[in-house]
Amino acid sequence: MSVGKPVWAQHVSRVVVFTGAGVSTASGIPDYRGPDGVWTRTPGLAEAFEYDRFMSDPAVRALFWRTYANHAAWDAAPNGAHRAIAALDRPGMALRVLTQNIDGFHQRAGLAERKVLELHGTMHRTDCTGCGRSLPTAEVRARVLAGEADPRCGGCGGVLKLGTVLFGQELDPVVLGNAAAIMQAAQLVIAVGSSLLVNPAAGLLALAVDRGAHLVVINRDPTPYDELAAEVIREDIEVAVPRVTGYLSGRPADA
Ligand code: ZN
Repeated sequence: MSVGKPVWAQHVSRVVVFTGAGVSTASGIPDYRGPDGVWTRTPGLAEAFEYDRFMSDPAVRALFWRTYANHAAWDAAPNGAHRAIAALDRPGMALRVLTQNIDGFHQRAGLAERKVLELHGTMHRTDCTGCGRSLPTAEVRARVLAGEADPRCGGCGGVLKLGTVLFGQELDPVVLGNAAAIMQAAQLVIAVGSSLLVNPAAGLLALAVDRGAHLVVINRDPTPYDELAAEVIREDIEVAVPRVTGYLSGRPADA
């Protein structure tokens, strides 16, 4: 079928895919605030994600670690949307993925670590808040599943904290700076599964749009950027993302 490439897909080599929780809910990972969200279903859990509460209360840490030890991501896998995004990474395409997700699924789908900026950190590393030692969260998870409620650093006894950004914590300024530079250079931004309502998403999108980048929005619900977008797509993410990335694949059948 030859329907012609949309204007936003023509002559682009610097592409940013910005992803939020919606790209991983298709893998069975619940979001936080939705109807089936983690915080919606478990009242009181949100406070375990507040930095001050986490650091000061062993009971809050126990709740946090119990929740993460049973996180759906441990048994889930990347879906067709993650794979389609990873397939964009090829010669001639300067691809970067900026994600609000912490599950590491973009890398598991095949993207190199350096191609992915994790704005909210990662659930796969855990750091000691005392000595700074870093260890795989899988090790901490095994200890929690074996019965440790509040796992501590084996070196200094300090509080262990997941490598994600909690409420009350600043986002990593280096990651944010890199994300801003990437957005300012983008020719095309594909925003997938994010409400684009809160920062840094909203601010980062503005950097790209203000510089004239084309924007494609793929999301279940309306976003504040819909009226600025070249195309807004509401259909299932696992259907929409491969179709959109297909326009960029450079295959004659898609031209
Ligand atoms: Zn330590």
